[in-house]
Amino acid sequence: MEHIDRTVVIRFDTRSSRICEFCRDLDPQFRLRRPLDQMVASTRKAVASAHMTEDGYVRHRMLELRQISSRESVTAA
Ligand SMILES: [Zn+2]
Repeated sequence: MEHIDRTVVIRFDTRSSRICEFCRDLDPQFRLRRPLDQMVASTRKAVASAHMTEDGYVRHRMLELRQISSRESVTAA
């Protein structure tokens, strides 16, 4: 059930989406993501919920959480 029709993905992709700059800046693995996992809807800010894919959303959330926990450990110290 994981199969996605490639032509649908490409049509879905280009005009209405852009690279998520938050993920691009913070994720060392960013270039290894599938192209669609790098994209957010162009009308939205670079937030997790703007991601086009579940995987993109989850990775974005993980970066946010990591950022929050590193901030907390700085203030705690
Ligand atoms: Zn993102």
